[in-house]
Amino acid sequence: MQRDAEPERPYALAETIAPKVRRVLARNPSPFTYTGTQTYLVGDGAEVAVIDPGPAQEEHLAAILEALGEARLVAIACTHTHRDHSPAAAPLSARTGAPIIGCAPLTLDDDGPRADAAFDADYRPSRVLADGESISGEGWTLTAVATPGHTSNHLCFALEETGALFTGDHVMGWSTSVVSPPDGDMSDYLASLARLYERTQDTIYFPAHGPAITKPHQLVRGMLGHRRSRERQILRQIEAGNTTIPAMVPLMYKGVDERLWPAAGRSVLAHLIDLERRDLVMRCGDAWRLPEGIA
Ligand SMILES: [Zn+2]
Repeated sequence: MQRDAEPERPYALAETIAPKVRRVLARNPSPFTYTGTQTYLVGDGAEVAVIDPGPAQEEHLAAILEALGEARLVAIACTHTHRDHSPAAAPLSARTGAPIIGCAPLTLDDDGPRADAAFDADYRPSRVLADGESISGEGWTLTAVATPGHTSNHLCFALEETGALFTGDHVMGWSTSVVSPPDGDMSDYLASLARLYERTQDTIYFPAHGPAITKPHQLVRGMLGHRRSRERQILRQIEAGNTTIPAMVPLMYKGVDERLWPAAGRSVLAHLIDLERRDLVMRCGDAWRLPEGIA
């Protein structure tokens, strides 16, 4: 069955993809992670930062360490703490002595049902970056851009010297982001998208999954439009009498891999909560309805 064979991916290989930027792909492909998590190494001199060290797989850690070579790892930065992003931070820190600097740990008592990769509860940063704070090394400066929504603690990192933005799971080229309440928040997500749209200094995005985005503003504008059209779709579904999420998802996500429907349902819930805040829908148990006077 040759036509079904997976193309060989560059797992465990450091590839230079842009000035000062190398990428190592982790072998954790899935319907949620596309070909796997992309760990980025920033810096081509004596000091390097790692962004999203990824899952704690020995093969992946070894590839990161080999790519570092003689350079000193000065920061391990995580965009957020889903389990496909941050678990390698602790073993990488233990082996190199580098500090974990970046997003905040989550403090949720109960993360609720999750369709996306679970959270990494063991993540312990030695320093949390607030929006606008930077870390730097030889030839590079990374500035945190707070982008809550996919998760409440999500950060993007801007490489000031080149205009590259590491977007984690906030903006990806291969798929829209899952926004799963209660930690995921659609109102925040849309505000974070609008924020990136206003940043004119970003010339290329490097997401944690999927190819680099070379026309970032065009993509973000399209994503904002996509979310608005999902909103209108949800309102039309309610109007047509499909008032529960299980009734809406098969109609709204026709043609989408059914393994992704539970995650799609979480994003529909995130939209409904956002619409409820704006007084455009009302919740009645598991069902949703339009307020009186709106049709
Ligand atoms: Zn994620």
